[in-house]
Amino acid sequence: MTREDLAETLENIALLLELKGENPFKIRAYRTGAETVMQYSGDIVEKAKAGELEGIKGIGDALQQKLHELASTGKLEYWEKLRAEFPDTIFELFEIQGVGPKKVKALYENLGVDSTAALKAACEEGKVAELSGFGKKSEEKILEAIAFRETNADRFRLGDVAEPAHRILEALKSHPDCLRAEVGGSFRRGKETVHDLDFLVATKQPQAVMDFFVGLDEVKDVIAHGKTKSSVRLDNGLQCDLRAVANDEWACALMYFTGSKEHNVVIRGRANDRGYTLNEYRLAPRPGSDAKEPPSFADEKDLYDYLGLDYIAPELRENSGEIEAAESGDLPRLIELENLRGTFHNHTTASDGKNSLEEMAEAARDLGLQYLGIADHSKSSFQANGLDEKRLRAQVEDIRKLNQGYEDEGEKFRLFAGNEVDILKDGSLDFDSDLMSELDYVVASVHNAMTLSEKDMTQRLIKAIEVPEVTMLGHLTGRLLLQREPYAVNVPAIIDACAETGTWIELNCNPWRLDMDWRWWKLAKEKGVKCVINPDAHRVDNLQFLWYGIRIARKGWLTRDDVMNCLDLDDITEALSAKRERHPSK
Ligand SMILES: [Zn+2]
Ligand SMILES: [Zn+2]
Repeated sequence: MTREDLAETLENIALLLELKGENPFKIRAYRTGAETVMQYSGDIVEKAKAGELEGIKGIGDALQQKLHELASTGKLEYWEKLRAEFPDTIFELFEIQGVGPKKVKALYENLGVDSTAALKAACEEGKVAELSGFGKKSEEKILEAIAFRETNADRFRLGDVAEPAHRILEALKSHPDCLRAEVGGSFRRGKETVHDLDFLVATKQPQAVMDFFVGLDEVKDVIAHGKTKSSVRLDNGLQCDLRAVANDEWACALMYFTGSKEHNVVIRGRANDRGYTLNEYRLAPRPGSDAKEPPSFADEKDLYDYLGLDYIAPELRENSGEIEAAESGDLPRLIELENLRGTFHNHTTASDGKNSLEEMAEAARDLGLQYLGIADHSKSSFQANGLDEKRLRAQVEDIRKLNQGYEDEGEKFRLFAGNEVDILKDGSLDFDSDLMSELDYVVASVHNAMTLSEKDMTQRLIKAIEVPEVTMLGHLTGRLLLQREPYAVNVPAIIDACAETGTWIELNCNPWRLDMDWRWWKLAKEKGVKCVINPDAHRVDNLQFLWYGIRIARKGWLTRDDVMNCLDLDDITEALSAKRERHPSK
């Protein structure tokens, strides 16, 4: 039982109570409980186990009891009974973009819709359009959302697999018969979504490691259990494969199972040109060639080296120029997590964040960052409790006060006062230049009217980019991975406009977004456009999203010199004012 498991159960109870039309206060109590569990600063799971939740604000008597039962036994009778009243497939409906609890309730009560399949059928028969509160447009939208989900079935966001990947990897490494272990595949290459996880171990006792793997706690189903290959499925549906090889096969196997296919094809061709065959186990002289027996390779680096190449980081292995660069010694020295000195796009309780300004600052200092930018929502994002001019000015004042405190203490840490300013439908900004110039920086983002044509959307963004006070562009395409397509926008034209104006582009590293996409960063870099890696944190632990940002930045060939928030406090302060001076206010 983790904190997330506890919160999720409460959240699911609230959803089902809503479907049953229960008392809204009761429903809200479960939602608040879930929030409280997520935000509690101590070890909430231990407290729940020990039955010591009394006095925690947001968790009433009834919830204390339930959390205790859940944490100590792994089960909750109340929840089991409640869920038995509905088919399991009902939860699919909550995952569909644009279908909230209220709509699910209407669909369920009026049409008996209790699964994605049933919803699709009801839409196709035109029944949904006739329901009050729906209409033809929303029926079409639902069908689109279902189709999008179908094409992305069996895929998982990097953010959903990183934890199980690391847990299982650590478990494998701890096994006494395991000499080495790694996760290969698209996870190792830092792709934004993955289909499955491919584990590899080097061992002399493959059977023992296989038995251990299929018996791991988090395994739900065993799909295959062989001597050197096994496949399992985890609770969340994620498939994990394990392959065991001998230690002297490690280098070839790891390269093979890391991919990409396209990269491996070129590498095999290269081996072939030198008189060798390369497969998942070894590099061997081709029969009839006069190539000599290669040495045994300790790791991938030795193997690349033998083929006349610099070591190619897994993130670059997409056959998009990395092999040529490795041959000529021109591979970039990729950015590392340790290079980051601060970050800019973060929310607080002033808008829709879950932690206060002070808590966010404290968390950033704990991570060893030198600066944290606060960019709450602007007034047009009323659904996110966006700040109006008055509240924003008050926040700026709070920030200046906190900074004075750090300065007095002689601490090398600063908050930067910014805002995530809405780019309105016509490309104008939610605040005027006077107010924006009182800030240290501005993140400009689109949060509404996402269905404009590509031409209109591109013009809208360029108009915002041309505003001198705009420092950086937030989540460029608005995509939500596996849930919402990016909106139509001409990315190269945006990159050109940013190059022209010296505007930075955000790499939003919320695992749902990872936007701008890694495929565009090479172009941005060529044009001299700077990246800024932002977690879009809405709570303190979201600062950990920076880890995903680094994976994606590496995949986009970026070095520390390409990423603005690798600058230290003094240099970034200077860069922020240089950005303004480049385009002085009228
Ligand atoms: Zn945003
Ligand atoms: Zn944001």
